[in-house]
Amino acid sequence: MLIFTCPYCGVAAEETELAAGGEAHLTRFGPGSSDDDFESYLFTRENPKGVHFERWRHVYGCGKWFHAARCTVSNEVFGTYSAQTTEPTAEIRETISKKRPGWSWRDMNGEG
Ligand SMILES: [Zn+2]
Repeated sequence: MLIFTCPYCGVAAEETELAAGGEAHLTRFGPGSSDDDFESYLFTRENPKGVHFERWRHVYGCGKWFHAARCTVSNEVFGTYSAQTTEPTAEIRETISKKRPGWSWRDMNGEG
């Protein structure tokens, strides 16, 4: 079972106390964007075998959304952090790099 520590209230919550919100760090495309960008925003997701960044909500706790980094193969949790960020924190990236040599953060939308 997945256990995430909520970065807001500090509770170590089991996944049954949480609601999954899909992939984190998506770039939103709305009115005025190209059809390809909007389609990609709606339907294209990473689905990696390994390190993944996700949105979770502490539904049966403080109710807030947060981000979590975990391994989709082993379910190892690398950390949780504020949902008010556009990319993983330096601390999270460092933790993952130590545990998964060769891994590096990349922009998931192919920009930059
Ligand atoms: Zn919480």
